[in-house]
Amino acid sequence: MKILASLLVLCASLAWAQPVPPIPFENGKFLTLPASRDISRYLAGLDSLSPRARLVSLGTSAGGRPIEALLMSESPAFLRDQAAEEDKPTVMLLGSQHGNEPSSAEAIQQLARELVAGQHPALLDRLNLVLVAMANPDGRDLSTRHNANNDNTNIDYVALNAGETRLLVDALHRFDPDVVYDAHESGIWKRVLTREQGWMTDVEAQFDMGNNPNIDGPLRDYTEQRLLPALIERVSDAGLAAVRYRGEITDINQSVARGGLGITNLRNYAAMQGRVSILVENRLDNKDGRYPTPRNIAERVRKQHLSILTMLELVADESEQLVSLSRRARQQWQSGTGDGRTLWMGVSFEENRDEPEVSLPLVRFADGHRQLHRFANHDAIVTRTPIRLADAYAVTRERERMADWLARHHIAFETVREPRELEAQSLVVEQLLPQPKARPGVREKVRAEVRVEARQVTLGAGDLLVPMDQPLAPLAALMLDPRSANALYQEPGWQWLRPGEFPVFPVRLP
Ligand SMILES: [Zn+2]
Repeated sequence: MKILASLLVLCASLAWAQPVPPIPFENGKFLTLPASRDISRYLAGLDSLSPRARLVSLGTSAGGRPIEALLMSESPAFLRDQAAEEDKPTVMLLGSQHGNEPSSAEAIQQLARELVAGQHPALLDRLNLVLVAMANPDGRDLSTRHNANNDNTNIDYVALNAGETRLLVDALHRFDPDVVYDAHESGIWKRVLTREQGWMTDVEAQFDMGNNPNIDGPLRDYTEQRLLPALIERVSDAGLAAVRYRGEITDINQSVARGGLGITNLRNYAAMQGRVSILVENRLDNKDGRYPTPRNIAERVRKQHLSILTMLELVADESEQLVSLSRRARQQWQSGTGDGRTLWMGVSFEENRDEPEVSLPLVRFADGHRQLHRFANHDAIVTRTPIRLADAYAVTRERERMADWLARHHIAFETVREPRELEAQSLVVEQLLPQPKARPGVREKVRAEVRVEARQVTLGAGDLLVPMDQPLAPLAALMLDPRSANALYQEPGWQWLRPGEFPVFPVRLP
């Protein structure tokens, strides 16, 4: 019976096995990186070759290049209108958000080619895929980290200044992925560490997941305790030494922690929406090394491909628990501590007293000698200023601009039509404390010391009310509340923090 079943599976996969042309990168013998135009053309070719693939437009980059997603699924309903299926995770892969970290764009094309050719058939049985091979085609063609407008989209998820960030946020809303995988590369050559101190980092694959303490509690516990260790173990077992991401090591005397805690990056932004959110930082070899292909690109693509494939297999194996946890989190967030409605306005890393030092390998630039170095370990996460999520936030300043900004985040709000009296927690900024020490991923430049006063307020016509009973409420509160280290008002162009009553505040709804 078992044999018969596997024969049937084999025949089914052979029946749609077909010759699929190599990706442009393979066609060029791994010697040059194809232009974004050629990659788009190739993905359009996969769309026409396979009923399981559909190329959709997400929008256009600052430099006028198309940004696209290749949907891959066994389900026509998913390909047609992205209808989610029970028990089947939707996984969104983002390649090369940083244009000068190109290897994931090639690895995602390879994966698409293999799936169209009938390889890894179990994956398409068990997953719906949204493959964004090039999240930043400008950066790809210009060999830069940023887009043609010099925006770094990876720190733009609160302000949403760049068109690219906005269309990726739209894509999160449209495809509603259970898993988001953001692929990067981390250079082993660092200005201070290497040029001045003589050492290079020595990493292969590094992973982190959403780590902000305000992520839905059960989802965060699951990703921290189960999924992240399992992914690291499986990728290592597959032959690629994987570790937990400890942030960038740029100086031999620094401390280490983890990937940043802030919600300005995609990883924590997506996780605050109730998604499993994974970051990979794979090795970007030094450009002075000698390799079979330019800057070892073929090998780097192989490692990205292995990381992606292993992650997808893990997600498929975990699908039951993963889907139920992440979808519940997207419907009804619950905080990890307190009464289920507690948000921490401040988050930071501090010294880990249980493990004050960690040893990490470095390689001496001069002779390749590899040696463990001890670093102070600051990966303990501390929280401050808990608040209980209110019924709503009132917005009484620059209301049209705020309405546009809320809409870009797909946060629901209501415009007040006639004067309305409500009980409010007036937030009085008493003092502004500059924060000289930048913390990873938390862009808190000034900390507002705020006094809370209960009082009646009258909202005028045109003021906005942002209800906190919506799925995006915790994300909205972290961006709207002036006490939050990740508030919108920490971003350039939004510097509203001044002593006095703040124009955005919590209210009680009758
Ligand atoms: Zn990057």
